[in-house]
Amino acid sequence: MSTEVPAKGSIVELRGSLGKIALASGEVIQLSLSKCDGFEPRIGRSCYVCEIGIDDRFGAVVEATRILTTTDFELLQMFDRRTDDEVSYEWVRSLGFEIREQLAARIVDLLADASPDDHALKGLFRYLAEISPQVFHPFLDRLDPALSLEAFRGALVSSLARYVQHLTTSDVSPADQGAAAALLALASSADPHALTIVRSYVARTCSDADAFEIADSLLHETGHALLTSLEIVRWQYDVCYELEPAPLDGDRAPAVMWLIDELHRCGACGAALTCVLRVEAAAIRGLRDGEPLEVVTCSSCILEVDPYFVRYRAPGAPETLLVAPLPEGFSPGEPLEPSSEVRVYPRPAPTLRSAFSEPSPYAGSYNRVGGVPTWLQPPRVIRCPQCDDVMMFIAQASD
Ligand SMILES: [Zn+2]
Ligand SMILES: [Zn+2]
Repeated sequence: MSTEVPAKGSIVELRGSLGKIALASGEVIQLSLSKCDGFEPRIGRSCYVCEIGIDDRFGAVVEATRILTTTDFELLQMFDRRTDDEVSYEWVRSLGFEIREQLAARIVDLLADASPDDHALKGLFRYLAEISPQVFHPFLDRLDPALSLEAFRGALVSSLARYVQHLTTSDVSPADQGAAAALLALASSADPHALTIVRSYVARTCSDADAFEIADSLLHETGHALLTSLEIVRWQYDVCYELEPAPLDGDRAPAVMWLIDELHRCGACGAALTCVLRVEAAAIRGLRDGEPLEVVTCSSCILEVDPYFVRYRAPGAPETLLVAPLPEGFSPGEPLEPSSEVRVYPRPAPTLRSAFSEPSPYAGSYNRVGGVPTWLQPPRVIRCPQCDDVMMFIAQASD
């Protein structure tokens, strides 16, 4: 019988310096305990035999000469095959937590001198950091918040000690790289104490307009807006979904885009409103008990009346909310929407950070719920015309 490797097996016998491994094929081969580098052999332990040789001391006996634990083997496979095609968000989501922790340690080692072309490594980092930022928290001292911000999300202040120290004592504006890094790291923390430190830093150093603007744009990266009162408010939900077209003959899709709402008319031009997106509440985490999520606009006026506000005094009854009188001789533009509705599925997706939403295999879709928007114009925060609160970003759609 010829033995094919790598082969999964488990240790079935240990005697002195030798043992036996039963391979998945049924074959039993010899194990020399000196080859078990880095793990403790014990009966029942599963492992991968990566290389074999022939031990001819007592006749030709097939012997395992390189053995790895199952976890290490799977990790090596991941790294060996990290190509843009195979490193997928779904694949990283399918990994167990222990593997994710080991993967994080290895990625941090590799990132230090990775080739700029190793997009798969960066994609792997980004997916893992978005899915499980906590696996990177032991390594935050080795990561730069300006380049690896996802990894800092939700970190405890205790793992950000050096940034706390820096921002508490800094008296330079966030135009300074070190101060900017500390601000990004602390604003990504889930700890309210961290935001308090950021706020007092901003109060101390950002009295001029330029510094304020830099602080605001850094905070924007972390899903916050800086108000002139120096209050820091959040505009981003942590949920993030991409909207994928549903198969034509599939089950009823939980979401639909570009639905013409003949019952509700634009308050500016009188045309039927367009429901850009309607998602059943059950399809989106965090909305389960609510009404369907709707994003409504007028596809003729959206460019002429910007921002185009819609208010709901009752569920399912959108009304145009004009905040300024229409200009003299106002006329709506050509309607923007595709001419027919599209049924879609929301799928959990890695689109937390707009900086990554440039065209690339890891860009994600422009049709999304939650996360951050991809901007054509400079990012802006929209405030409610009625109560002046910062509005949360809910969804983005492209035609
Ligand atoms: Zn209109
Ligand atoms: Zn409001």
